[in-house]
Amino acid sequence: MRLVVIGPPGSGKGTYASRLSPILKVPYISTGDIFRENISKGTSLGKKVEKFLNSGLLVPDDITIEVVKKRLKEPDCKNGYIFDGFPRTLKQAEELEKIASPDVVLYLSVPEWLLIKRISSRVICKNCGKIYNLLNVKPKKEGICDVCEGELIQRKDETPEAIKIRLNEYEKKTKPIIEYYNNKGILKIFSNDKLDLKPEEGVKKILEILGVRK
Ligand code: AMP
Repeated sequence: MRLVVIGPPGSGKGTYASRLSPILKVPYISTGDIFRENISKGTSLGKKVEKFLNSGLLVPDDITIEVVKKRLKEPDCKNGYIFDGFPRTLKQAEELEKIASPDVVLYLSVPEWLLIKRISSRVICKNCGKIYNLLNVKPKKEGICDVCEGELIQRKDETPEAIKIRLNEYEKKTKPIIEYYNNKGILKIFSNDKLDLKPEEGVKKILEILGVRK
């Protein structure tokens, strides 16, 4: 299956897409994770994109598309993919059509008050990148990753100023692709306005929406 998960920052893209990956047996690909990994390793890609991530602005399309093209050539993508955070612009969506067009696009619809609440209570492991949310996905030990015991920190782009810029980028550049996929007839919508919905419950609902039996 080729699945794209789209939604505003804080809508749960990473939470759901990463949990759907072992169920649907296709790799979970987060362009945000790829960029963050390159920044922390100090690669030339990392140096190019750091300023965009830190400020909350989108990375230019040509850089992002190259990254995705390279990732899709890896053997684990032969049966499909789950994208979290790609495409984020019409240009990216059009490019994806040329390489490996999605079968279905899942749009996570969440009201803005809930996005802001979620983002401000989110922490990430400095070491392995696992995401926690102090509202509904708490670590066992405060401030420490359950998986690797790394330190849990706030993302640099989760300051109030950067959050505002990210929401604005989403409204301006990403929202139009919802219409694009709707017109193609492949858009499915998962609406959630609950603050404390457990990820497993959300995954169950999404599988129903996608018509997938576990
Ligand atoms: P995310 O982890 O998906 O919230 O992405 C974090 C940041 O990475 C975004 O705010 C952008 O700066 C950058 N980014 C991730 N995916 C893309 C994309 N498809 N296009 C442009 N920039 C991206």
